[in-house]
Amino acid sequence: MNSLPAPDVSKVSTVYDEIASSRAKISSVVRRDRSKLNGSFNGYQGIITSPVLPTSLYANSVTEKRLFENLYLRPPAGADILKAHALPAKFFVCPYCGGRAPSTIDHYLEKALFPEFSLYPENLVPSCRGCNRSQSAIKNNRCDKLHPYFSPVLSRLQLKCSITIRHVTPHFDLQLHCPNMSANEIDHSKRHRAYIRLERRFARYASREWDDCREVLRESGGPFAQQYIMRVANAERLRYGNNSWRYLFYDGVGNCVPAIDILRA
Ligand SMILES: [Zn+2]
Repeated sequence: MNSLPAPDVSKVSTVYDEIASSRAKISSVVRRDRSKLNGSFNGYQGIITSPVLPTSLYANSVTEKRLFENLYLRPPAGADILKAHALPAKFFVCPYCGGRAPSTIDHYLEKALFPEFSLYPENLVPSCRGCNRSQSAIKNNRCDKLHPYFSPVLSRLQLKCSITIRHVTPHFDLQLHCPNMSANEIDHSKRHRAYIRLERRFARYASREWDDCREVLRESGGPFAQQYIMRVANAERLRYGNNSWRYLFYDGVGNCVPAIDILRA
């Protein structure tokens, strides 16, 4: 869970110009709707931050919907610029969840409902597979996800992992701190977490990490296990940010003495 700088959209018009001159079927639609499309692209931020999403330009036309969807699935040569632009940087965690490095491109406004944004760079978000779900994030004309480029909420969220030990078995809980947030922002952050199934996925991840951590501590922890854990946590935070899963896990372990005792036993 981290905000990202928005990609440069200055190449959009070039790409859509290229599309307009390259394929007969789509080019006639793009030429016909040019001013409406420009309006949507220019208003993208307003569209996604509006409490109720407006209707897509192509909500009522199956043929046109398909034409734009196919642009993403089989993009023209010039559109590769857009995909390359949205690809993740090195050492990067998924901006929706803070977990695995992104391996897919997610359409924030899904292309089946908003096909005109299928190639629009601000709508393309590098994402892990777990967050890029087939189930729709748009319900009641609202999008459950927070937008990594534009959400003021996502950049202010702070997660913390707390560990409780019951009969030598660790239980991992994620607590969320949302300082100075409005009721609407808190509600959106809850819907985001529910949509990406954050708690369940983090708990599964942490259980696997727990076994690895036990092995590592046996070999290199010794009497300085806690210092070792905190060093790992700090390195993770510097490298991947303070909502990355590895940081949260190691920070949680480092702050839980009973957990360290069990790991060293
Ligand atoms: Zn993710």
